[in-house]
Amino acid sequence: MELREISDCCYYFCGAVNIGYIHKDGKGLLIDSGIDKGTAKKILNILKGYNLPIDYVFLTHAHTDHYGGASFLQKQQKVKLHAPRLEAAIMEHPILEPIYLWNGAMPIKQLRNKFLEGEPVIIDGFIHEGRHEVGPFRFEAVHLPGHSYSQMGIIIGEILYAADSYFGPKVLAKHKVPFIVDADATIHSLEKLQSLVFRGALPGHGDYEADISETIQANINCHTHIKQFLLNSIIMSPNGISMEVLLGKMFDYYGLKAREIGQWLLFRTSFTAYITSLIENGDIAISINGHTPWLKGESP
Ligand SMILES: [Zn+2]
Repeated sequence: MELREISDCCYYFCGAVNIGYIHKDGKGLLIDSGIDKGTAKKILNILKGYNLPIDYVFLTHAHTDHYGGASFLQKQQKVKLHAPRLEAAIMEHPILEPIYLWNGAMPIKQLRNKFLEGEPVIIDGFIHEGRHEVGPFRFEAVHLPGHSYSQMGIIIGEILYAADSYFGPKVLAKHKVPFIVDADATIHSLEKLQSLVFRGALPGHGDYEADISETIQANINCHTHIKQFLLNSIIMSPNGISMEVLLGKMFDYYGLKAREIGQWLLFRTSFTAYITSLIENGDIAISINGHTPWLKGESP
């Protein structure tokens, strides 16, 4: 992890998960906090080396790789934490992620790890879409739901810190089926990014780019492709297909490998998000066949 400069006030820690940093009038604003105490400590040490402070942290969304280190920063450095309201509810009650992944039931112990359940924090201020002033920092928060329920990116110093609203091309190629909770909102947020004005953008996973139009198009193509694959697979089954069998087809077609139950549940959530979109757009219908949720193409 190293601190890279984008402009005279905008920086980021480059890593598997990028972390933003803004310095203004002797104060520091961190954008996301890394997955755990260890990562947060590394950030603190690097900033200390440059004599740079942390006073505020903006947490873009409630995935542990983005907020897991915030509890340590809150306790150790007395930083003020800000987050979108709905994401904050999960950050304050982190068991909600394993709960929603485990169909709403109390989760098995295997799901209660630092990748799915962060250390709880208390959020000091809620961020809604629009202009904000936090200490000396003025920024525009942009609502970018889809990858999570109420994710926000921010534009500050003309740089867009985009959270996980899009992924770099290498990350897309690696994941094949990216994590989403809402397919339509994901695509809508990607289209929204194309209409924003900024000098450069940093995704949570991927490289900083001045022009993200090709990367955004690659993300849109990725989601459109998966949705089309699922729709075709349903239409090609004249009597319909069970959700379970269709999910298996998605794993096979995209060569997905889940090494443990947590990873499998994340893929299943994305799958469910695409199915939601197909149902809500009237392309397919869901019913119960025997004891099994059953998907069938709607005749036009
Ligand atoms: Zn995320």
